[in-house]
Amino acid sequence: MRTISKKNQNYDLNLNMGVDRLYNVGRVLSLRLRKLGIRTIKDLLLHFPSRYEDLSSIKPIVESRPGESATFKGKLLSISSRRSKNRRMNITEAIISDDTSTLKVIFFNQPFLTRFFKIGDTLVLAGKVDFKPYLGRYLSNPVYEKSTNPLSPHLGRIVPIYPETRGISSKWLRSKIKPLLKLSSKFKDPLPLEIKDSLDLIDFDEAIRQIHFPDFHQSLKAAIHRLAFDELFIIALRTEILKNKLRSLSARRMRFKEKEVTSFVKNLPFKLTDAQRRSAWEIIKDLDNTRPMNRLLNGDVGSGKTIVAAIAALCVYLNGKQTAIMAPTEVLAYQHYQNFVKFFQNYDLEIELLTNSYHLSSKNNIMPKNKYLTSDIIIGTHALIQKGIKFKDLALAIIDEQHRFGVKQRAQIKKNNLKGETPHLLSMTATPIPRTLSLALYGDLDISILDEYPKDRKEIKTYLVPPTKRGKAYDFIKNEIEKGRQIFVICPLIEKKERKKDSVHFTFDFDSRKAAIEEYEKLKNSIFPELKIGLLHGRMRSNEKEKIMNQFKDKKLDILVSTSVIEVGVDIPNATVIMIEGAERFGLSQLHQFRGRVGRDKYKSYCFLFTESAHEETKARLKVIAETSNGFKIAEADLKLRGPGEIYGERQHGIANLRFASLFDYRLIKEAKTEAEKLIQTDPRLISYPMLRNKLQQFEKETHLE
Ligand code: ADP
Ligand code: MG
Repeated sequence: MRTISKKNQNYDLNLNMGVDRLYNVGRVLSLRLRKLGIRTIKDLLLHFPSRYEDLSSIKPIVESRPGESATFKGKLLSISSRRSKNRRMNITEAIISDDTSTLKVIFFNQPFLTRFFKIGDTLVLAGKVDFKPYLGRYLSNPVYEKSTNPLSPHLGRIVPIYPETRGISSKWLRSKIKPLLKLSSKFKDPLPLEIKDSLDLIDFDEAIRQIHFPDFHQSLKAAIHRLAFDELFIIALRTEILKNKLRSLSARRMRFKEKEVTSFVKNLPFKLTDAQRRSAWEIIKDLDNTRPMNRLLNGDVGSGKTIVAAIAALCVYLNGKQTAIMAPTEVLAYQHYQNFVKFFQNYDLEIELLTNSYHLSSKNNIMPKNKYLTSDIIIGTHALIQKGIKFKDLALAIIDEQHRFGVKQRAQIKKNNLKGETPHLLSMTATPIPRTLSLALYGDLDISILDEYPKDRKEIKTYLVPPTKRGKAYDFIKNEIEKGRQIFVICPLIEKKERKKDSVHFTFDFDSRKAAIEEYEKLKNSIFPELKIGLLHGRMRSNEKEKIMNQFKDKKLDILVSTSVIEVGVDIPNATVIMIEGAERFGLSQLHQFRGRVGRDKYKSYCFLFTESAHEETKARLKVIAETSNGFKIAEADLKLRGPGEIYGERQHGIANLRFASLFDYRLIKEAKTEAEKLIQTDPRLISYPMLRNKLQQFEKETHLE
């Protein structure tokens, strides 16, 4: 005889069916599930717990201690319900006993329990033991389960807690997911057997089962390990494929002209550091190759990246080709332009500056109004990768203060090159990239590291200044200015009314955000009326910005109040103090960047951090900056505190989506990389691995947001 029961129904289900096919799931619940991104049974099984509660060990009642949470199992001796004294609440009082003792249990507002539980039932109860003088010791409002069901999804085990939404509780999800787990065997495992074997990874379907309802801590660990590997493996595969593609392209070989390059270096006003020499040499070798360079020059603020870039540009010029240098802001592009003009003053070489507001050339004062760029070195902002720009013969593209060229930037720059050739690419960044991260994310790049400062740089004394000491800080500044030094003041906003959307990670008190304009007015009018103070912010026109920057450079201003436009690269060796208002507004790496604006000359330099936030957490975060001058350490701390997406802008690399993998798990990252290399070497297009190919496509779709 056939019986259609709720249990049997599951045997007819498959992964791709809608959740509305599940017993007791109708339209309303389906819509709610959709809010969690769950449409099919497969989605439901891939809705992973966000955490677990360990209810796996049952405690003898005699060991119950007030204040502790625990799970108990016992026989129900009595149960009754009553109204509380003020009659607002229903109180159900029960007594359970095990071999060791008895325990009072109190449920609030669940009068139906007197009918649901029968005297003599064995109950499993998980909750907090409490104590009140008039009640004695009792278990307060526990999660309950009749223990007739030996495989309860809710109790007596490591219990999964899921991301929830209104009307969809973890308890509900557990009750739906548990009976569906037998369908997990229908998931095909995308990982090749050899990889699983050699790395001792569990099967995908086993991982699914264990991630929802782990049998033991150990099996939960194994499941997380497996799923973490999968995440890293996809990223690694993508990197390898990218690398492979790049290898198949060819670029123009820039022959190394040793005599000319040596003479350029000899005539510099300073001696290169060993790190600069080493990096320049790595770049020179890359350029002297038909394989396009794809290199990142990673060096802390002030480590001297610009001159290394100039040497690369020189090599290209000596081969009769063009270099383009892209900076993130106009201020910086202009500064590079000035520096390059100086570096190459004895060369018959044309340097051009192109941004939305300027078009200058070192040879002609007036530039033709066209977008056909013929100079030897072209410096600019993102304007350089606009459509319609034409480079006569571009062989090298350098991007400053970015971790890498994006896929689109790369394509556009190639399009803008009239010869249609693939240029060599060099990116430069002052955000130190921790080792694990560079392995996970930058595997397609070769990395040169400038880990040495040009001049013996003194440590920049950094203080977190409490509001009560603000006056003292101003006195200090005054004194520095009297000694002939200059001061930066950084504010998070332009004016107060410009209220930016709050970052998810920090909460800010609106009043604590110092607005640049207001601060400028305050300093100028009431605090230092006798000093010369300038203001710089992103809403000013380029020529205004440039005028102010030049005034500051020429020491015509004592104090420059600025927003974060000053962040990258600006070089004012005479500045010795940087004051940062609303410091909690900025990430640690960003603060470290700001700090790098001072201490660029022989003078002892200082960084004062101000915050009106009283949060202990904020203060602890800012202390990291005050106590560490190592950019790599700060980057790691920032990575831990804020996650990689925020700092490295790596959404397009899927790094923000990591659920199980840790970016600090060097070993697993390395394993994923090694396996990806092997696989792509044998099967570059994943012909024999259609499932991996699909996963990769899916991944691209989800993360390719550039
Ligand atoms: P960043 O790496 O932050 O871009 P810059 O290239 O702006 O650093 O260099 C910082 C300062 O150090 C500049 O004033 C530059 O001229 C100077 N500099 C660079 N290399 C050396 C060196 N080897 N010796 C002395 N000064 C140097
Ligand atoms: Mg720089």
